Amino acid sequence: MFDKLPVSSKTEKILTKSLDELIDVEEANHLMNIKGSELYPLLATADFLRHENVGDNVTFINNCNINFTNICRVRCGFCAFGRDADDDDAYILTDDEILKKAEGAVSNGAREFTLMGGVLDDADIEYYEHLLTLLKDKYPDVSIHGFSPTMVRDACRVSGIDTAEGFEILKSAGLDTLPGTAAEILTDRSRQIICPEKVTVAEWIDTVKTAQEVGIQGSATIMYGHVETLEERVEHIDIIRQIQQDTHGFTEFIPMTFMHEYSPIFLEGQSNLGATGTQDLKLYAVSRLMLGDLIPNIQVSWVKLGFRFAQVVLTAGANDLGGTLGGDELSDASGAPDGVDASVDTLTRMVKDLGRNPIERNSTYTEFYPIEQVF
Ligand code: SF4
Repeated sequence: MFDKLPVSSKTEKILTKSLDELIDVEEANHLMNIKGSELYPLLATADFLRHENVGDNVTFINNCNINFTNICRVRCGFCAFGRDADDDDAYILTDDEILKKAEGAVSNGAREFTLMGGVLDDADIEYYEHLLTLLKDKYPDVSIHGFSPTMVRDACRVSGIDTAEGFEILKSAGLDTLPGTAAEILTDRSRQIICPEKVTVAEWIDTVKTAQEVGIQGSATIMYGHVETLEERVEHIDIIRQIQQDTHGFTEFIPMTFMHEYSPIFLEGQSNLGATGTQDLKLYAVSRLMLGDLIPNIQVSWVKLGFRFAQVVLTAGANDLGGTLGGDELSDASGAPDGVDASVDTLTRMVKDLGRNPIERNSTYTEFYPIEQVF
């Protein structure tokens, strides 16, 4: 396959190996550093493995983000969304406002509510339990993908219970899946710069494993392009891989490129300008070569990459387009290039133009629904 392509013998050896087994950390680090036309064989290999692992469907979910508050005690250095409680534009949505947003989403076909927001100082487990019952009582068939490991740990501390007990309460109230947010980069060196108030690496791992033991599956994310090294990107993916080998509780892996423009760490001169386009492509491709069918679903974040580049990234090992979103105030505050709300038609057009099959899915990739729109 590679004899006519411009690859070094080391790159060729790694790409050839990846056709039969997952690559190791040293091999991933080599691929993260390749330059020039060696990129194309890497992308072709990742796309081939995507086809082998999951076929030619490109999935997405009709969902709706409900950002219930922007007040946050954590104030991560990369986040342009969080506010202090006494800021003029600080808010906490009322129950009526949440239900109104949910009603609009359901009338538009939403299958999932994504409950995300800031970390409130005094929110206990009953606060999050209330948000779940509010929605589940009215929309029992819509799944809820909600909260972050930092939120749940905080709430359990406020309520004086352990994390497993907290997840049991949330599960009973209707929490279906846990977003793998707060992972950012799983090295304590980078976390000390970008999010010192968030859970540590050990706490993040412990929290997602606890959720999975309780029966709450979830996503794994990486947020890259700020202060971390290329080696730390690989270290992060390797940690996710090790957890998955233990638990098989991750439904998807979501690389999220850092949006620097309005982030405090960039404005203060502490971060990079974000990843370049080829770094984005390599991150996705190397993820496919490291994760294979261990985490078969690799999601493109169109809200962060924009529609055009997201479509290109679907040729670098990814097979999922996330969701229609129906708003995402965290990305909006960071300067989302193509807005924060996509129609099913828009995502379908991107996929069909690639010659692949668009298909709606549920939160856990266990149910699939044909797309009715015709172009
Ligand atoms: S990323 Fe989340 S936890 Fe961090 S400041 Fe923003 S809202 Fe708060």
